[in-house]
Amino acid sequence: MGSVVDTHSGTALGDARSAVSWAVMSRDANDKRKECTGCQKVKPLADFPMRTTRGVKRPSRRCAACLREAARERQRRYRTENAAQVRETRREAKRRYGAVRLGVSPDRAEELRAGSCGICRRSPEEGCQLYADPETGAVLGALCPTCLRGLAMLGGTQERVRAALAFVQSGTDLRDAIDPQAVTQDR
Ligand SMILES: [Zn+2]
Ligand SMILES: [Zn+2]
Repeated sequence: MGSVVDTHSGTALGDARSAVSWAVMSRDANDKRKECTGCQKVKPLADFPMRTTRGVKRPSRRCAACLREAARERQRRYRTENAAQVRETRREAKRRYGAVRLGVSPDRAEELRAGSCGICRRSPEEGCQLYADPETGAVLGALCPTCLRGLAMLGGTQERVRAALAFVQSGTDLRDAIDPQAVTQDR
């Protein structure tokens, strides 16, 4: 570092010149002001982040505050516009998780849901739901919402369902006033 002591050396002179020019430039940068195309306020050049467009470095058109606000607005708009999609993704994940918990692969579960009801054979628009034996956990198939509800109301056990079948098949007829006219006249 002998050149620092020797004031006549090119290095020392160069250092001094670059120090001076830096001071001038920085003072210029602070003094320079620019109008923001967003808020229309005239602000110091330092408030405009430098942007490189096609290899040319220049300050942005909008000030840092306006750019920040625009970024926030973009994010808000994205969340609003994609709210339905975000909800659907969550619902789909829940459905997949539900099938896996029953021991059915997501693809197989999707196939079963799109198929027909194991009891009434209808294919409801909203799809069927997997049905597992509450005691053994065996996945018996898929049911439409109506049949699923009916089965659930019967308790879902073979005993109750068999009893219900026996009831509707019993052939019993307890009617003892077959002639409606007779009933009317009695009153
Ligand atoms: Zn602005
Ligand atoms: Zn059904």
